[in-house]
Amino acid sequence: METDPNCIFCKIVAGDIPASKVHQDDACVAFLDIAPLIEGHVLLIPAGHYETLDQIPPDEVAAMLKNLPALVAAVKAVTNCQGVNVLQNNGRVAHQVVPHVHFHIIPRNPGDEFHFNWPAGIYPQGRAEQLTEAMRKQLAE
Ligand code: 5GP
Ligand code: ZN
Repeated sequence: METDPNCIFCKIVAGDIPASKVHQDDACVAFLDIAPLIEGHVLLIPAGHYETLDQIPPDEVAAMLKNLPALVAAVKAVTNCQGVNVLQNNGRVAHQVVPHVHFHIIPRNPGDEFHFNWPAGIYPQGRAEQLTEAMRKQLAE
């Protein structure tokens, strides 16, 4: 499994720096975000060091994500929130700051302080078909 001695999340996996861990197994760690968007904000990370989601082997991501439903349920039960956002940022432009794959599990309530812009668009004629075909080809490679 990949590790990076300079990575803050690898240090959390190894136990070299403290974290409020809510779950740890061979594949992953889940712990409280140190600067929560909302109280109870949890991060789920793979034990291996991969910068972005497209780099992690499918079996390692699967072993991590099998914990996601129980973690979402635990966040809901403990914070008594009405909803949950699961967010996963890849690349600086997408607001990734820590270069080790992580999933944010964020409790949501009406009127809370977390907002994001969702500029829903519309495809010009033919463009959706073009993109679908290109992605199908890419996946077949
Ligand atoms: P990103 O913007 O990369 O998707 O999110 C990184 C998250 O990691 C941020 O929400 C930040 O608060 C959290 N974080 C960064 N360093 C630490 C740390 O040392 N411990 C914990 N628990 N969370 C951290
Ligand atoms: Zn790492």
